[in-house]
Amino acid sequence: MIEPTIKTAHGSQDGVSVKAIGTLHESAAPVFVYESVLEEILDYSHRDLTREVGGYLVGDLCTDQSRPYVEVTNFCPVKGKSQAANFTFTREASSAAQRDIATRFPDKRMVGWHHTHPGIGIFLSGYDLFIHRNFFSEWWHVAIVVDPKRQELGFFQWVEEEIDLCGFICVYGK
Ligand SMILES: [Zn+2]
Repeated sequence: MIEPTIKTAHGSQDGVSVKAIGTLHESAAPVFVYESVLEEILDYSHRDLTREVGGYLVGDLCTDQSRPYVEVTNFCPVKGKSQAANFTFTREASSAAQRDIATRFPDKRMVGWHHTHPGIGIFLSGYDLFIHRNFFSEWWHVAIVVDPKRQELGFFQWVEEEIDLCGFICVYGK
């Protein structure tokens, strides 16, 4: 078990504004995403409309006085060599990501992953669920799927034993 970082959740008090997008699960940790990171993810997702691309989400598991929350502060694309239609997050990619984070973001951790579904919509396929269960099994791990053709996106998180679509809280001004 990792210990969450003790830190006050974002709100209007720290010079930023926040906005909940979608429906937040009462029984799961809220997911805070910096607007700049969301823009970076969307930009990267739109670069290739012919095949799936992906990356991982960097941030932290935090807690304030009331409850734990997840913070997404950085995005790192995974440059896949394969031209396969499906984005794959292998064990090697996961290890490389961990090493990359230790070097570039020593005080942060991998909090989830990203991939695109050009033209097919927002869901997790059987294979996506396999990846999430195997490499993102901590209760606070999240996934974001972007459909750059339909201009849609969705976050997923563990809600009890299931991986469900969830809302998130966008943090503006960071
Ligand atoms: Zn997928």
